[in-house]
Amino acid sequence: MDIHVGLDDADSPHGGCTTYLGYLLASYLRRKNALFLDLPYLVRLNPNVPVKTRGNGAVSLHLRLDDSDLCDVAWELASVIEHEVETHGKTSPGLVVASGRAVGALSRVYERALSEYVPLAYVRELLEELARRGEVCLTSLRGRGLTGSAAAIGAFKLREFTYEVLVYGPRELGARLASSDEVFKEVDRRYRPYIFATYDYVEKRTLATPRSGAPVVLGLRGLSPRLLVEALSIIPGASRWILYKTNQATFAHLRTKKNISSLKPYDSALVEGRVKGSPRILKGGHIKVTLCDHTGCIDVMFYRETGYLRHAARLLRSGDLVEVGGGVVPRFGFTLNAESLRVISTSPEALELNPLCPVCGRRMKSAGRGKGFKCPGCGFKSLDLKKVRVEHARHLEPGLYLPSPRAYRHLTKPREVLGLSPEEEIPEEWIR
Ligand SMILES: [Zn+2]
Repeated sequence: MDIHVGLDDADSPHGGCTTYLGYLLASYLRRKNALFLDLPYLVRLNPNVPVKTRGNGAVSLHLRLDDSDLCDVAWELASVIEHEVETHGKTSPGLVVASGRAVGALSRVYERALSEYVPLAYVRELLEELARRGEVCLTSLRGRGLTGSAAAIGAFKLREFTYEVLVYGPRELGARLASSDEVFKEVDRRYRPYIFATYDYVEKRTLATPRSGAPVVLGLRGLSPRLLVEALSIIPGASRWILYKTNQATFAHLRTKKNISSLKPYDSALVEGRVKGSPRILKGGHIKVTLCDHTGCIDVMFYRETGYLRHAARLLRSGDLVEVGGGVVPRFGFTLNAESLRVISTSPEALELNPLCPVCGRRMKSAGRGKGFKCPGCGFKSLDLKKVRVEHARHLEPGLYLPSPRAYRHLTKPREVLGLSPEEEIPEEWIR
């Protein structure tokens, strides 16, 4: 039967070990010759909720096992985790084991958890109902991690995805890699854009090494499983690793278009509307833009850290039609923190100028209220000439604007991968 395993350690004070537990479980199941239906998943959820899994994400494994009992599998995996927790003093994650039949119901949790704040009670009730029907086995009902675990299962089968190869090792290896800029510049030179978000040339900083260090010492993100595994060969010390399929870099959380009046706190959403007034530059260099649709208006913040995105926002003018992707924060009413900006159309910027002299071609001057225009060059006067409207070319072109690398979040689609698709073929060796 098809079995799906979800893991999330949202309650861990340190975090960072969900993917490592996923690695341990996947290694264990590989040794037992389990058939994997797909690569293990690393699933990121709505980054704009206050109670979240610290960006560590949830993990799911997708298997086919011969005549297995769901709960036998669940307790077996729980004991593998328990052993790890006892040996290394980590926190037990939320563990959900589900049959193939439960995936449909859990996909709703995934969809919601991507862009909303999902109450734990809703997830717990759904899981209990599925457990009564024998489609889910739970080893514990405690913990916020249940939402991530359920959502990670519901992500199956991911339609839009990229890959990340995660390398594990001791803290010393993490520190060494974090200061090996040349290695990552080399990876970037060789493999960009098929391996992306590796190095930030503006900040002169490696993006592939997590700040927290162990057990994750490195994560390379890309569109090609083959090249990700190949790239590990030029990284010293990368000996224990796993290739995850992931919803990272797909903007999966910014798919739902919402009216301004229907936005709720912590939603991630796309909002289409017209710019009202000019952008205001706030202290610290942040930009505030008022956006209105037929249901209302909202302040949109483009923070300084978003770099390119903020630059584009500065060039917005009243009347421009745009679509902003971002997270809703309940601050001074609601504010939308922008993560993407699509300029649909710009409104012409026009100036009213005095007419040109029909005799000598110079720009005429006003001869006084109601007295028409007078030419400063040849003295020609006219009562009939009118002011002329001159349209300026706008510096902002229609198109999609994205943040600078330093503001990348897990789900941000980097500019270099726009229009590219991931390779489907999975290498024989995806874990070591
Ligand atoms: Zn003249």
